[in-house]
Amino acid sequence: MRLRILGTAAGGGLPQWNCACPGCSRARAAGPAVWRTQECLAVSASPDAWYLVNASPDIRPQILASPELAPPGGTRRTPLRGVLLTDGELDHTTGLLALREGAALDLFAPAAVVAALTEDFPLRSLLAPYGAARWQTLAGELRLDDGRLRVSVIPVSDKRPRYAAGSSRPGPWVVAYRFDDTVTGSAAVYAPSLARWPEELAAALSGARCAILDGTFWSEDEMERMTGHGPGARAMGHLPITGAGGTLARLRGHTDTRWFYTHLNNTNPAADPASRERSLLTSALVEVAADGREIHL
Ligand SMILES: [Zn+2]
Repeated sequence: MRLRILGTAAGGGLPQWNCACPGCSRARAAGPAVWRTQECLAVSASPDAWYLVNASPDIRPQILASPELAPPGGTRRTPLRGVLLTDGELDHTTGLLALREGAALDLFAPAAVVAALTEDFPLRSLLAPYGAARWQTLAGELRLDDGRLRVSVIPVSDKRPRYAAGSSRPGPWVVAYRFDDTVTGSAAVYAPSLARWPEELAAALSGARCAILDGTFWSEDEMERMTGHGPGARAMGHLPITGAGGTLARLRGHTDTRWFYTHLNNTNPAADPASRERSLLTSALVEVAADGREIHL
């Protein structure tokens, strides 16, 4: 199985266009080499069948930077077969608008998200005249790539996107995924939004050689400390890395798994490679993924 981490920032990216917090200012001064595009993953068990997890607003440059996602010479045939959404957030779905040039993609999302993208933020009907997207509601295990890639859905939470805040549709609204290559036996877990640590996640991590997790916030009160306002990390749908109940403590004891953080908010000090926080993660054998990071399992 191959993974390419296309984007590693939370909504807004790093730097965010309208922000000069310490993280955004440092990134702006350092230049594009350290910038982060918005979170997105590509996964594949065979070279001509790639699947995206989420479609970020940065999807076009992300795809262009990934040679394995290019169409074979002389064709208009993309190796991209589909997109799995973890939720209906704008920074995970608006990239679908940039993938409308006739590709027949399979789009998978939880039922509540498909309904929200049909009614509250009607991407589905907006895209319908442009291509042959096949929307599918997640229900249990999926088999993609002619059965080779098994996808398990891990319900995470019922956090709704702001545009559907008043929706009474039952969840889950946010999910994570485990991918199993049924030929090689390798497995990976992708969980970029963790409002809590569900039982099912602990089970899914068992035997996974790689896990890419929600690294949005370093600490619970980071938004307030860095920007002077803003709710806590959990209220925004993300367990922080550190502090009581943080994700870092969960990783101990899983020594056979390679750990990565993604979906970093621009306030997260660990986004800076020279930071004390980054050193702490490195010494805990946890990597902060950079855009374009490739993982072969
Ligand atoms: Zn900022």
